[in-house]
Amino acid sequence: MPVYREQAIVLGHHDLSGADRIIIFLTEGRGKVKAVAKGARRPKSRFAGCVEPLSLVEMGYFTQPQRTTLARLNHSELIEAFSSLRDDYDRLLRGFYVVELADVLLKEGVAVPACFEHVAGALRALDEGGDGDLVRWGCAWRLLAALGYKPNLSACVVCKGEKTLETFNPGLGGCLCPGCRTPDRDGLPLSAGAIDHLRLLWELSWQDVGHMKPSGSIRAEVGRAVELYLNQHLDRRLKSAELLVDA
Ligand SMILES: [Zn+2]
Repeated sequence: MPVYREQAIVLGHHDLSGADRIIIFLTEGRGKVKAVAKGARRPKSRFAGCVEPLSLVEMGYFTQPQRTTLARLNHSELIEAFSSLRDDYDRLLRGFYVVELADVLLKEGVAVPACFEHVAGALRALDEGGDGDLVRWGCAWRLLAALGYKPNLSACVVCKGEKTLETFNPGLGGCLCPGCRTPDRDGLPLSAGAIDHLRLLWELSWQDVGHMKPSGSIRAEVGRAVELYLNQHLDRRLKSAELLVDA
């Protein structure tokens, strides 16, 4: 019976009958895992306080031979609760966006170690007071790139020319030059400054992403481009994104 012990970020949970709960968490070595935590809803459970979403936890779990997908949790120890993030409603909403995004984009049992780093880095940047929207856009942008969907921002996706790029076409996976824009092959207009900032979302440290200071118009362009591209890769709208619209 394979037993695992590794750091994990709790993405969410579902209640089961009785006092049990399914915990969904992201690990570096085994990707997204779903595990049953027996008795987790009892106040005195050994899991109490250690398996809340947005926590970094040392998880011990084993896979059951008769169950191919659902593991069993037998140990959890809180490493970091990101408590500053939880004290600020706006940042908390963005934290929930980050973990929901990871849950929706990542498949169970498929390890892409960079994804763990991106989600942990984004939560830490939010906890340290980084700009919540830049961090969540950066996380979406990096997760998509890690999963093989990195759009081309350095050359026109049609003619491959590296001259001026002025629109972003999510369906074609990148930017178009003025010569290749046609009415049926258009996209979102993007300034050179916005293209630079979209590249920086990949390149900067998480701390620096949280402290970028784009102008209001560049910020709006970056947000539109990331969300348009992300929506193309999601089969449903994120619940946390709806809360952000109302916030
Ligand atoms: Zn072109």
